[in-house]
Amino acid sequence: MTAVSEVVLPITFEQLGLAAPILEAIKAAGYTEPTPVQARAVPEAINGRDLLVSSQTGSGKTAAFMLPALQKLTVQHEKPGRGPRILVLTPTRELAVQVTKAADTYGRNMRIKRGCDLCEIGNVGGMPYPLQNRMLKNGVDILVATPGRMLDQMNSGRIDLSRLQFLVLDEADRMLDMGFKDDLEAILAKVPKTRQTMLFSATIEPSIVRLASSFLHDPLRIAIDTAQTRHVNIEQRLHFADDMGHKNRMLDSILGHPDLQQAIVFTATKRHADQLAQDLHGKGLSAAALHGDMHQGARNRTLQALRKGGLKVLVATDVAARGIDVQGISHVINYDLPMQAEDYVHRIGRTGRAGRNGIAISFASMRDSHLVRDIERLTTQKIEVCVIEGLEPKMRAFSKPAPRGARPGGGKSYGKPSGAPGRREGFSGYAKRDGRPAGRSPARTSPYAK
Ligand code: AMP
Repeated sequence: MTAVSEVVLPITFEQLGLAAPILEAIKAAGYTEPTPVQARAVPEAINGRDLLVSSQTGSGKTAAFMLPALQKLTVQHEKPGRGPRILVLTPTRELAVQVTKAADTYGRNMRIKRGCDLCEIGNVGGMPYPLQNRMLKNGVDILVATPGRMLDQMNSGRIDLSRLQFLVLDEADRMLDMGFKDDLEAILAKVPKTRQTMLFSATIEPSIVRLASSFLHDPLRIAIDTAQTRHVNIEQRLHFADDMGHKNRMLDSILGHPDLQQAIVFTATKRHADQLAQDLHGKGLSAAALHGDMHQGARNRTLQALRKGGLKVLVATDVAARGIDVQGISHVINYDLPMQAEDYVHRIGRTGRAGRNGIAISFASMRDSHLVRDIERLTTQKIEVCVIEGLEPKMRAFSKPAPRGARPGGGKSYGKPSGAPGRREGFSGYAKRDGRPAGRSPARTSPYAK
């Protein structure tokens, strides 16, 4: 594997080597310059290199693979046929829909046949088989699919992969996490050896390196560690929570704040997502749940309402909320912290989209210290501990023994006078408990870090 060296990056889309119809579409989308991952990946991909790219959602990674993929389609295939020339595999259908939309946006000046997850948006449970079959028979240039669906159709012998030129594994780490390893291997074993491959992953772990070394040919490794991928445009806050009642009161206060445009609230279980959405709805908020037990049609309607701004609060579980790209999401609230630190990164990336600022608020109960520690290790950022005035927790920081005589929940262990309301800063009604300035602290001085 070759590491990318310090290269002088092209700074305009024109310098990336893209064809005029694609450049025009980019302009129409309002993009003025490539993001770092696009600047690095697009010219290499156009040159035919296999790429192993670590970059987060929100970095512009979809265009980083879709633009060179479309560039391939500007040249006619020497082999006639109807099979896809581009295949993008994604962990979820929601992400497949987003990727298909990106193909529509960037390919608007080209004549492309595309299919998404072998299903149509709005159809319960995906496109009925006769329709799927007709779509495949008519031919597709770009196919975006989740591994399970893809394998089903491959096994039924309806997909001709002999023309495949460009394969993308998007969010490969998630696909492995979700148990798609065998499906992926079965698919990859059947695609032409001559195809070009791009693998995108938030983190490059040993399992990803193994996958890459089996299926990528001398890949160029591109690691993007920009301000954006570290989510520096997202203010991260941690609130200690005594119990569910306390969480609910804090949630009401946050959701009632005038700065909040739209929010995604993450819960640990599907049932709780339903319950909480119902409770919020009962309190007069436009709120709805999104989770994997819902029919595809209901999921799509909910997402559509979110996109159109008709929904203020989405209460979601991890898998369902993956890939959501709605610019009005000003807040992500972790009602429950995720079990995997990587999910935290994905969750908070639902806000601060397209260069905007966002706020990510996490509730942590006494037993969550290890989760917070894992998140801080992964992101190498400390999450600022905050309190809402009038809703101060009774519990104190996880790992700091309270000094004798300190009041429960008081800020003494953080250098504040006991019982002091704390400094009001930024989002009004909030006080930073540890007296540090608002914003991200580069130092890893967390009370949870061991
Ligand atoms: P992604 O990381 O692919 O999920 O993209 C995140 C968001 O950035 C999407 O809303 C894209 O439309 C937007 N985006 C992608 N590339 C650019 C660019 N070069 N300039 C401005 N916005 C972009």
